[in-house]
Order: sequence, then C-alpha cells, then structure tokens
Amino acid sequence: MSGKCCFFTISVIYAMLFLYSCDDSSPTLPDTLSPPQRVTFLVSTSASEGGLITPNQTIQSGRLVSIVATPDEAYQLKEWKGNCGSFSKDHLEVSFIPSGDCEIEAIFEKMKDPTTPIQTEGFTTDKNKTRIALLVIDFPDTSSRAEFPTVSEIEKALEEGVALDFFKTNSYGRFEYEISGFGPFNHEKNYVDLEDIGDVLNTQSIQINGFKEDDFDVFALIPRTDKKYDGAAAAPFWNLSVNGHLVGNKKWKLVNPLFIGDFSNAFVQKDFFVESYPLTIFERIFIHELIHCLDIGTHAKSKTNGEYYHYQPEIPNNGENLSLDYGNQFDIMGGNNYGYNLNVAFRDQLSWLSTTQKTTIMEVGRHSVTVYPINDSENVVAVTIKTPHGDRYYIEYRDFDFWDQRSHLTDSHSIMSNNSQGIMVNWLDSWGTPHLIDMSPSPNYTYQGDHFDIGSPDVRDVVLKPGMTYDSPSVKLSNVVANTDKSYTFTVDVKP
Ligand SMILES: [Zn+2]
Repeated sequence: MSGKCCFFTISVIYAMLFLYSCDDSSPTLPDTLSPPQRVTFLVSTSASEGGLITPNQTIQSGRLVSIVATPDEAYQLKEWKGNCGSFSKDHLEVSFIPSGDCEIEAIFEKMKDPTTPIQTEGFTTDKNKTRIALLVIDFPDTSSRAEFPTVSEIEKALEEGVALDFFKTNSYGRFEYEISGFGPFNHEKNYVDLEDIGDVLNTQSIQINGFKEDDFDVFALIPRTDKKYDGAAAAPFWNLSVNGHLVGNKKWKLVNPLFIGDFSNAFVQKDFFVESYPLTIFERIFIHELIHCLDIGTHAKSKTNGEYYHYQPEIPNNGENLSLDYGNQFDIMGGNNYGYNLNVAFRDQLSWLSTTQKTTIMEVGRHSVTVYPINDSENVVAVTIKTPHGDRYYIEYRDFDFWDQRSHLTDSHSIMSNNSQGIMVNWLDSWGTPHLIDMSPSPNYTYQGDHFDIGSPDVRDVVLKPGMTYDSPSVKLSNVVANTDKSYTFTVDVKP
C-alpha cells in the first residue's frame, strides 16, 4: 500500500507541471445553452491607491469572470465597490457572471500597524542555509486535530531529526536548511473539496506580520488533514498569497500532507511500518520534494531492455523501460524500494561534490579508476565519463549504509548483498537525468510490493561485479576489483 502511495506521491509533480503551466485563463462555466447570438459585456475595473486590480475584462454572456485585487506592501483590501455584485473584503479574488456591463473597484487602506511582529521567533535567517518557510494549514473538515503535531513539533522534527542528517551526509556537509514555522492557518475550503493538491496554496488565510519574501528560498505547505491523500508535490509556478501578496513564481513551493492513503499518520509512521527505517514517511517525502525545490526537476530513472543491454535493439513489450520514471529503486528521487541515498549525478548537479570526490574521464583510451562508498567525504565517490559519442555516465558504489537499508521485502537482503558487490552505473540523457542501467540484463520482472505494473525492469541485481564486462559502442567497463578498503577499482575504455 505504502509503495503505491509513494509512487503516486512523486508522480504528482509532473501532473502539476502540466496542469499549472497553462492555468492562467479565467475559470469558465460549461456552455449549457447556446445563446442565439453571442453577447459580450465589459467589466470595467479600477483601484484606489495602495494596490492593483485585474485590467478591464470583456466577457461573453454566461461566462464567469475572476477579478483579483493585489495590495501593495503594508496595504490591505478595505472593500469592493461597484455594481458588479457585493463581495467580501476577505476575498482578494472574486468571481461572478456579469448580466451586463458593470464596474468594480478595489479600495485599499494602509494596514493598521504592519510593523508589529506577531511571530518573530525563528525569523532571523542564515543566508548560507536554504531557508524554508513552513506553513501549516488546517481545514474546516479536519477532525481529531489534537492528534496532529503542532507547528513547532513539525519544525523541530525537520530541524533536529534525521531529514537534516540525510542532507548533511548526502551533501558531505555542503547543504543545510533552516526552518521557520508559521501558522496554523485556516483554509477557506474543506480538504475534501480541493480540486487537487495545488489547491492547498489557494488560501488567503496566510498572514504573517513583518513577512518578507526575500527571507525565504522555499515555501513548504503542510496540510493537517485526515480526510484523503492527494500525494505530495513541488512546483515553482504555484501562486501563494502571503498577506494578500503573491509570492513570486521563482520560488519553489512544496506540499506535503501529514496523512497518507490509508489514513496512517505519515509524521510518525515508518515506511512499510518497519520501525528500524531511518525516516518516517513524512520525512522521506519531504526530502524528495525538497530536492525538487533545489532545481532537480526530474527523477532517478532506469533504462533497461529485458535480457538485453540498453544499447541493443529493444525487445517487444518493453513498455516504458528504456526510460522508466522512478525506475532507480535505490534512490530517494526514484522508487526507493531498496535504498534512499541520492545518486552521484544529482549530487554533482547540486554542487555537492568536491573536486577530490570526482574523477572525470573524457579522453579516448584506457583508464584505471577507483571509486569509494557513496557517502565517503574524502575519496572519489563519482566517476564520470564523457565519450566522443556524446554518452555520459556516472558510476558510484553503494555499500548499503544506514541510508540504503530497506529491509521490508523478503528479497531485500539478497538485493542489498548482490548490489554491494560491484559498481552501479548511471547513463545520463540529454537533460542530465540519470538512468540506472542493468549490468547483468535479465527478463522484466514484477516486484513484491511494487509501484509498477507487470513488465517492470529487473534492477534487483544491477551492478558490474568482478569478472563481468560492460561493452557498449561508446565505452567498455571491465577488470572490476574489490579492494580491502571497501573501494572498487575498474578499467574504463573510452572508444573513439
Ligand atoms: Zn518527485
């Protein structure tokens, strides 16, 4: 069950990307009647000093129009005026169906005492860390609210728990965040009435005195609901309104609910209910979405071709397996059934690797290289190969440390054992997305507790072990030797 949630969870970001990138049109009502002639009405808009309003709108008869008032800093909406209808000042966006030409005016006023801070604690931010505004959102239909963690408990869990340790380890101490918690705020809608997960952001209830957008890099919205689960997601272009001002769409926002599919409490629950796991479900999803917010817009994929290598002609019925989203089962940005560590290709894109941790091979010919366990902060952990053919590879070694321990499936121990006996090879597509490739191709397979349908790639035993050779048109990998210090040495032949 949880696996499914996880898959659904992470798939939402793509749905969102497409959904929201074109969502700038006014909402419309279905054309239930075809009027004999199409009539248009003019909605004239104006605003007082202290803010802006949507420009004049020409609207076809029967259509819904939306008008948005945007107060300047230190201003708020005082009232809506005009003959289009009567609207509450609590709504910065109003929608109506005009019955003729009409006028609407937004009247703004200075906020009473905008400098009085209500929540100043934790508000001082450190520019060397990624600064996250944690916004906790309640809903009218949230029940048993007492069971939910408080804002400060969530803040504390993310700042003092293992999620931050994960980032410190995976970034070798180069990435940290700090969290400022705000709220809880009360969403105007019931959670069950939200149209999708992004609708969590559509609330005017977020009021933070003294708020400055520039104080934060990422906005994390935490819905406190037990009603349903719409996954988690991250996107930069969602509109978020704080004090009636839109937070710029250059800032990433994530949504991560506290409850998941079967209404289990993600805040306390470990994956698959296995207590020994390092992360709670909430922490694991938070890490995944936060990595998206660092501009990693894709997932750790896999590239397999049944019992053949990926560069050979594709087998019939291979489905999406030549570029399978979430296909890397050993990665927090992939399916993460057998590991949590972030692959070295993404780490490099995040500038987490020092020059001493990376060996880059570009010259045609033979090279001998050594790679150490992925979380070693002093030795080479990434071997990158760029071939004249334009192929790019990132090679790493997993010793199945604390972060890669996932022992919920009956085959977990053999998978961890098999895949710690050699090097893991990622191939990069032209967008820089790593695809885990199988060094010992075998027929497609369906996992226990799998995210995927029949025909999944077999990545149970993917590494290149001593005695094995990978010989693609652009590069050959061979002579794999396990050293006594946990490192692996191997030969790279870059072909002309
Ligand atoms: Zn994702």
